[in-house]
Amino acid sequence: MSDQMSDQMSDQLHAQSPTPLTLPAADDFAAWLDRRCADGLASTRDAVRRLKAGEASTAEQALRIWDTGMIGMANAAAVGSLFSEVHPDEAVRDRGDAAVQEVQKLGTELQLDRELYDVFAALDAAELDPEAARLLDKTLLDFRRSGVDRDDATRARIKEINEQLTLVGQEFGKNIRDGKRTISVAPARLAGLPQDWLDAHPVGDDGLVTLTTDYPDAIPVRTFCHDRDVRREMVNAFLNVGWPANEPLLRELFELREELARLVGYDTWADYDAGVKMIGKGVAIPEFIDRITEAATEPAERDRDILLARLRLDHPGAEAIDGVDVVYYEELVRKEQYDVDAQVVRTYFDFSRVRAGLLEVTSRLFDLTYTPVDDAVVWHPDVTAYDVTLGGETLGRIYLDLHPRENKYNHAAQFTITDGVAGHQQPEGVLVCNFPKGLMEHDDVVTLFHEFGHLVHHILAGRATWSRFAGVATEWDFVEAPSQLLEEWAWDAGVLQTFAKNAEGEPIPADLVAAMRRADDFGKGYMARTQMFYAAMSYWFHTDLPDDLTEATVSLQDRYSMFRYVEDTHMFSGFGHLDGYSSGYYTYMWSLVIAKDLFSAFDPDDLFAPEVAHRYRDLILAPGGTRDAADLVQDFLGRPYTFDAYGEWLAR
Ligand SMILES: [Zn+2]
Repeated sequence: MSDQMSDQMSDQLHAQSPTPLTLPAADDFAAWLDRRCADGLASTRDAVRRLKAGEASTAEQALRIWDTGMIGMANAAAVGSLFSEVHPDEAVRDRGDAAVQEVQKLGTELQLDRELYDVFAALDAAELDPEAARLLDKTLLDFRRSGVDRDDATRARIKEINEQLTLVGQEFGKNIRDGKRTISVAPARLAGLPQDWLDAHPVGDDGLVTLTTDYPDAIPVRTFCHDRDVRREMVNAFLNVGWPANEPLLRELFELREELARLVGYDTWADYDAGVKMIGKGVAIPEFIDRITEAATEPAERDRDILLARLRLDHPGAEAIDGVDVVYYEELVRKEQYDVDAQVVRTYFDFSRVRAGLLEVTSRLFDLTYTPVDDAVVWHPDVTAYDVTLGGETLGRIYLDLHPRENKYNHAAQFTITDGVAGHQQPEGVLVCNFPKGLMEHDDVVTLFHEFGHLVHHILAGRATWSRFAGVATEWDFVEAPSQLLEEWAWDAGVLQTFAKNAEGEPIPADLVAAMRRADDFGKGYMARTQMFYAAMSYWFHTDLPDDLTEATVSLQDRYSMFRYVEDTHMFSGFGHLDGYSSGYYTYMWSLVIAKDLFSAFDPDDLFAPEVAHRYRDLILAPGGTRDAADLVQDFLGRPYTFDAYGEWLAR
């Protein structure tokens, strides 16, 4: 956007109907990415200049200038982070990384810009409608949380802390990535592991097989290896990744965060972190953890006893079960006591049928139409594009990038290309996953529905008045609720039978789906307890700042987990989420509790019933971040959310 753009021109722009972004051909991609980043950041800087120059004569105008500037920055960040992860050309991926770094640099600069903060602090909220007042409120809160309103010495210290936090966090992550351990075992001791896995692990010159603590080795060994001592060696190595180097780094991380929180006016880091989440206050986190723990205890004990009983068949007199045996006996119990053959299950999940089925199911559910855009420029031939319409009106565009390839992001996630702002730009988003082109596992199907839950949220909340509230702009501990809710459709026999068909065209049998669900339900109680053990570490480490993290871990494991501590291990050292989630590891479970409550409004015998699905679409998804998630949920349910549905599901 040029310097000369007047409000009048801006109004004209808003009156236009937004058109989809046209991606460039492969040869032009790097230059296009650079330009989009440079233009975006220039428009942000221009907005800042105009605000400081006093060009806005009303509070609303000031917010409009700011929001336009934020769109520029968000657009740059979105294409930067997407294409740094998915573009086949290394030069483009590097430019994407560079774009993300530039955006972060500008973001940090603006957060600490006192003159800019003063512009917002001087605005009169009384002039604004409720949504604009909410935007002003959130904007001021962001500034204050960054410490912009503190004195010079404090701001200098905050800057120092932030820089140190970045360094410590990088070092912590590096110790986990580079700190893998190995164990060497005689080939005869690997009985139980699948043949294709054994073939990929040849015997070395020393006559031993070397295994690493990376997942492709650690998980199969813990799951299938009959030799208990090999499992013990692996678990011991696995739970010592990053130790001892990471213990002092973690203590430094917790202390720096605590100091930062106090400098900007909070009692604890957990209060600071929870302050912009649905949970609201730090102290509510241990209450939530204890509540889940209590709800999970009965099913957790029930299933733990089943594992223990099975363990005793091999090891009579065993008194308890720990990490050496849990995964192995869980697999045995599932195999022996639940009649689910994964080889049969996958014959019903051919990728093309599943993708078509996903679109068909969500189209019926939300009354959407997906139109393939055959002439859309895409970054790889595997990628497909669709325009999404509702009631004849175009909402936005989605891209599905669903197969693995060299140098591509190797998890599953929804990425943004543009946030949808009414009259300005339409929402566009991408699903990035790594599914086989042939038959899929049912787990993959669940993942696909989950990620699509994020994507459809992004698109449906894409006619925002303010970009700040566009798309998946809700509190971070609510974000996973719509995606976890949509997983339910991948577990329903009636839904699955609409697309899950084998080569003969026969739909998946309902009794097979029921058996799959029973097998999946096994262990959910003790898994919830394990999750609460991790959540308790994440909260109490930040709040108590214990001197000895091993001692604190042992005591929290004893209190929350159903399984005994394995001697001489230090799992916290390899627990990367202590950096990423900080004190908020509870969030995924929090979203699940709400997802179960939202699901209770649907008719289990007819998941396509339109009235409730459309209300969900309009009251939960479409508003994006315009209101607090608790209020959206209350509107939809007609009451505040409760734990009841989650508790019933857990006890089932
Ligand atoms: Zn998710």
